[in-house]
Amino acid sequence: MKRLLVFTLGLALCGTVAATAKDASAQNFLVVGGGSTTGVYYQVALNVCKIVNDKLGGQGYNCIGRPALGSVFNINAIARGLLNYGVAQSDRVWQAANGTANWKGKPQKNLRTVFSAHPETVMIVTRADTGIKSIADLKGKRVNIGNPGSGQRGNALDVLRLSGIDKDKDIKAEGLQQHEANRALVDKKIDAFFYTVGNPWGGGLEIANSTAIRMVPVNTAPIQKLVKDNSYYVMTAIPGGIYKGVDKDVPTYAVKATFVTGDKEPADQVYAVVKTIFENLDTLRGLHPAFKILNPKDMLKGLSAPMHPGAVKYYKEKGLM
Ligand code: GLU
Repeated sequence: MKRLLVFTLGLALCGTVAATAKDASAQNFLVVGGGSTTGVYYQVALNVCKIVNDKLGGQGYNCIGRPALGSVFNINAIARGLLNYGVAQSDRVWQAANGTANWKGKPQKNLRTVFSAHPETVMIVTRADTGIKSIADLKGKRVNIGNPGSGQRGNALDVLRLSGIDKDKDIKAEGLQQHEANRALVDKKIDAFFYTVGNPWGGGLEIANSTAIRMVPVNTAPIQKLVKDNSYYVMTAIPGGIYKGVDKDVPTYAVKATFVTGDKEPADQVYAVVKTIFENLDTLRGLHPAFKILNPKDMLKGLSAPMHPGAVKYYKEKGLM
């Protein structure tokens, strides 16, 4: 009798769980992966969700933007079904879709692009007191090259390799997450860090306010060749006058932050998200200074993996493609 009761209870419990799971899917729970809390990806994830919840909450949409480890993590987490959406650098999206770099021999066939957002500059930030003025000066220094999972780590490895700097022999390489690296630079535990991020980013403003900093140009001939050889890179500059102490433009190269998803996300759901974001772009533009420049035409540029059909449907309807 007791056994039967336990069995029946078990069944009833299973039934409840199954029913909840079913309701949850009808409710459209969406998780969006960003980056470190002081960067811009987290702001994309938070604010896209804010708009989706405000406008589609009544239709059962529940969107949660969360901090994450960055581009590589987000792409892999989407593939594993941990995230519905994520933000990733256009170079990393290309590499994932084509099976190079972190995905050598393992092209991520299910990765889909939705729209592109702000441009991100590759930056090397140091304190003014380290004497580091060029990439070559990084030799012998303690340098954060980005946590595994971040987009910037790949850029740092490219820049070091193209500058003849061996990350294992010529520098003391650290793999801190960005919010830890910010702190470590101010506390003199590292001498410089690489970061690939939109401007302005909160952490950068914060460091510059408390410490005299310098940003190192990233525009040597081998880097210009890398940019020329890869369509997802452009030469640009970190605008002067944003970060205290960095008054002049700092030449470097850039990628685009891309909003990505997986091919298993239902087309009507992706359509609803894209439509809502594009119809409320004014709101998004006002939610972070790095989003001010967003406009529909540019948001279809720099997409380096196939577009999700739900997004395509909306763009075709609006004559954007
Ligand atoms: N570009 C960085 C990455 O891919 C993240 C920058 C940010 O969080 O804004 O990991």
